[in-house]
Amino acid sequence: MTDTLDDPIYKTDALIAEDIDRYLEVHQHKTMLRFITCGSVDDGKSTLIGRLLYDSKMIFEDQLAALEADSRRVGTQGQEIDFALLVDGLAAEREQGITIDVAYRFFATEKRKFIVADTPGHEQYTRNMVTGASTADLAVILIDARKGVLTQTRRHSYLAHLIGIRNIVLAVNKMDLVDYDQAVYDGIVKDYAEFANGIGIKAFTPIPISGFRGDNITGLSANTPWYKGPALMEHLETVEVDQVSDREKPFRMAVQWVNRPNLDFRGFSGQIATGTVRVGDPIRVLPSGKTSTVSRIVTLEGDLDSAVAGQSITLCFADEVDCSRGDVIAASDNPPQSADQFEATIVWMADEDMLPGRPYWLKIGTQTVTATVQQPKYQVNVNTMEHLAAKTLELNAIGVANLSTDRQIVFEPYAQNRALGGFILIDKISNATVAAGMLHFSLRRAQNVHWQATDVSRDFHANLKNQKPAVLWFTGLSGAGKSTIANLVEKKLARMNRHTFLLDGDNVRHGLNKDLGFTDADRVENIRRVGEVAKLMTDAGLIVITAFISPFRAEREMVRQMMQPGEFIEVHIDTPLADAEARDVKGLYKKARSGELKNFTGIDSPYEAPEDPEIRIDTTAMTAEQAAEAIVARIIP
Ligand code: ADP
Repeated sequence: MTDTLDDPIYKTDALIAEDIDRYLEVHQHKTMLRFITCGSVDDGKSTLIGRLLYDSKMIFEDQLAALEADSRRVGTQGQEIDFALLVDGLAAEREQGITIDVAYRFFATEKRKFIVADTPGHEQYTRNMVTGASTADLAVILIDARKGVLTQTRRHSYLAHLIGIRNIVLAVNKMDLVDYDQAVYDGIVKDYAEFANGIGIKAFTPIPISGFRGDNITGLSANTPWYKGPALMEHLETVEVDQVSDREKPFRMAVQWVNRPNLDFRGFSGQIATGTVRVGDPIRVLPSGKTSTVSRIVTLEGDLDSAVAGQSITLCFADEVDCSRGDVIAASDNPPQSADQFEATIVWMADEDMLPGRPYWLKIGTQTVTATVQQPKYQVNVNTMEHLAAKTLELNAIGVANLSTDRQIVFEPYAQNRALGGFILIDKISNATVAAGMLHFSLRRAQNVHWQATDVSRDFHANLKNQKPAVLWFTGLSGAGKSTIANLVEKKLARMNRHTFLLDGDNVRHGLNKDLGFTDADRVENIRRVGEVAKLMTDAGLIVITAFISPFRAEREMVRQMMQPGEFIEVHIDTPLADAEARDVKGLYKKARSGELKNFTGIDSPYEAPEDPEIRIDTTAMTAEQAAEAIVARIIP
């Protein structure tokens, strides 16, 4: 529908009075601009937003918000909420149990609808700004004309650019307080241009305003006769939004759910990320690569001949093609890539530091996979843009790191496609969103390393040894009795002609893992490597016994996932801290208590006891010998 704004039916008041449904329909077909305002506490953000809302004179938020919610529901049909949608994004964050302090406001003028995300300006709220900006088309960077370009201005601009916002408005505010002096304005614009160029911002729109007095907000002000550009509202109403340029890109749609109400209908529902799709178009389903053609484009309002980026639709194919939630439907001659190793920018949003090597859920579009992040290549100082060395990322830190996923994901670089290049990381145990990220590119080395098929299979190795491979994973506090009992278990198995190997924590730290210390990050890497070694040993048909404190549930779970089903046997050597400390075989508790030894499990580093281990040994109730007997009896029937 084209906006013929002179048509009286579009005049708000009359229309609302006459026909509310028609009014809402008109609004539904206007373009939407999502923008973010960035500024420090006193830059006048609230005043400006208040004025925009007031001047738009059309704050029928409730009806419109309800309409928004309805159209979303049409798109997602009560399935999981798409995190990429700005408003829904907030809901998703709430679901994930993170408190992000971003206020979203809705308003509309006769030309456009707007959602504005308002975020606090403090440095510690990088995560808020990133959340608010994640789907914005435009950022209004507010500057106090009396103060000029500040550290915060640089930080906000950097983040907005990083998030992929290509429309930047430099709103030089409080012009009334500098007597509308053009020289002051020009000086600020020049300073900003220098900085912006340096970080790759190609263009921005500077506007001298006074949010308080209303200068250059809805109309041009007589106080700034020297200013020849648009008023802020005019710019917001007319600037070309990404949704428009997204239509020119190749077609991509992530499948949110498979719509199969009866045997005669099978459609794939989702929101078009980029491009245009028409009935008859050849398409490709990824990652499978299967092709077909579009037979129908179904919406609640009826079938369409074509649909474009931003629309929520259901596609039917001419052929029976396997396609499920998480798959991506794309133009068949120009599909996106799949890969499992990437370089990415990561914005860390959790209070606990990132743990390189720890498995997190990675959610990208409608795909969810397991991912591990390597130690960052560098961290960015968001105030100076300097690159700093980093071992991990803490709350609000931004860094660049390689990451790998447990299976191939369909993606595009974030710079080309925010929907298929932007992701979040979720803690597997707490379910909290811990990071947002942007994929840069896939690592070529991943494409050149293939799994080599070997003729002597793992079954063959196991049969030759006449046994079933397994990993007996001992976990427990230092001094709990892991090494003692593991040693007895191995002796018993050896006497029964079983082929075993005992991997002991201290021993492995003398060789394979001698480069690792006892920080959380090093402990995670320690367990990851031992897990990989244990896995190779089960492939060789061995019964592997490991004795590592392995304090974190997440890593023990990671190792469990590496193994064949049923081969991982978690053995909790359950000794109360007081008993382990009283034994203090190696004198380590004494050192830890005196502060001589840092990061000691149970003292100043946590131990997360298994919730549901295959075997639990209470060493206060039996001797080491009895414990070993019980364990062997469990695995050798
Ligand atoms: P870890 O390997 O868990 O750090 P160790 O096996 O090195 O622990 O040390 C455990 C100590 O506790 C040993 O000196 C062992 O003799 C003693 N101990 C006392 N009772 C038991 C028991 N029931 N099971 C295992 N060890 C016990």
